[in-house]
Amino acid sequence: MRVTPCQAALAATIALNLLLLYCAWRGPGGPPPSCRPPRGVPGVTVLLRDFEDFENDLAATARAFAALPVPVLVVAETPPYPPVPLPPGVRLLPLLPSPDRPPPRPELHVRTRHVALVPDGTRPLPGLLERMRDALEAGAGDARVVAAPVGPGPLRCLELRLEPRTWTARYGPAAPGACRAAEGTPVLLLRTRDLFALPFPLARPLPTAIFSQAALRGWGLRVLPAAFPAPRRPPLSPHGRWKAENLADGRRRRLMRDLGVKREVLADGRERWYGCGKETARCFGTVYARTPQYLLAGRWTPPCCLRALRETARHVTGVLEAAGVRYWLEGGSLLGAVRLGDIIPWDYDVDLGIYREDVAKCRWLAAAAAGDPVEDAEGFLWEKAAEGDFYRVHYSRSNRLHVDLWPFYPRGGVMTKDTWLGHPQDVEFPESFLQPRVPLPFAGFTAMAPNNARAFLELKFGPGAIENPEYPNPAVKRLGQD
Ligand code: ZN
Ligand code: MG
Repeated sequence: MRVTPCQAALAATIALNLLLLYCAWRGPGGPPPSCRPPRGVPGVTVLLRDFEDFENDLAATARAFAALPVPVLVVAETPPYPPVPLPPGVRLLPLLPSPDRPPPRPELHVRTRHVALVPDGTRPLPGLLERMRDALEAGAGDARVVAAPVGPGPLRCLELRLEPRTWTARYGPAAPGACRAAEGTPVLLLRTRDLFALPFPLARPLPTAIFSQAALRGWGLRVLPAAFPAPRRPPLSPHGRWKAENLADGRRRRLMRDLGVKREVLADGRERWYGCGKETARCFGTVYARTPQYLLAGRWTPPCCLRALRETARHVTGVLEAAGVRYWLEGGSLLGAVRLGDIIPWDYDVDLGIYREDVAKCRWLAAAAAGDPVEDAEGFLWEKAAEGDFYRVHYSRSNRLHVDLWPFYPRGGVMTKDTWLGHPQDVEFPESFLQPRVPLPFAGFTAMAPNNARAFLELKFGPGAIENPEYPNPAVKRLGQD
């Protein structure tokens, strides 16, 4: 059978339409891989992102890489000021949206399949970008990021685990093949589509941002020993160094906020904290239905908040003991003490019972009872709760992490009180549990607790309360629901 050119063209058109229809039909889940546009041209684009506006080496770094030649893009929130004379062909991509321009889409400006994130002050080593790319594509293990050092200092492989539930990033020595981060100054090479599939592809400091997001995805890191040269640069002026440190600190804080990290445990055991303190507000807002917002987000109490709660509990029990106020661990706090000697890792306050008749013995409680909130010598704020006949000691005036003090009084051998908040565990109990009270390790110190804590807890929470952990209000969210 003979086919005329016209018939052939018609057949080709129909086939193309069928293909397009197939691609479109796969719509909501995204087209199948074969229908995606080609993923860029072979090659590596250099992104210059980690630099300061002042005392930088941007022009020389850009010129050196542009001469390789490879495409070079300078990426910054706003154009560097004072302006940097960029060599011909090197473009600047501002990341901050501007009302008179289309939204910034840096990924649309990278046409190559691979991208290298190059720190300011780096010089190319011929062939090294290609070797990095080949190492990535050799597909050894789970490597999705390749690093090579800049300058004489080698890169040290570290393990990095992000633990979103506890808001923690944990570094440690890396077992062979378990490299997740690198200490030092690296050039990083990734597939362009991998980089721009990250929620924060260009957040600074770039290495920490990339390593953290890669670790969350189980992407491996391969470190090459060959180094990019770094010419000697004049040292920063003292003012420049001060500015650079301040800016770096601010960027690190913003990155940790974006990553949901409030505590970094470094490889040498040191810790860096990013959460709330005495001068800031509490990390979480008002708690509704006994279910703080972080629980709904699949997270537990931020470590800074647990730390502040422990500190407040230790302070309050110390003051009460010194004043001769009989107190005991109550509710969830007693449960935590019996279970693990600490605050339950998702709890948002500490509860203590006190003898109502002892209130007058403590000057801060007495002052709070008389009316206004009162700040003690260590900056803790004592107040009578607006919700009823109980007291609250806040970590500080601005940070409202608190210990609740529930005044009970004996009536016919039964401990009772006047304010009931309707929680299932909020019930009367025999005074014999307090005769005597017993010491119990809690939150890093020794607190007083009812004797026979197990019976006390089962009376309040029901049988099996110690063995079967549950969130405070399972009707809103259950443990194990994440
Ligand atoms: Zn906090
Ligand atoms: Mg509580």
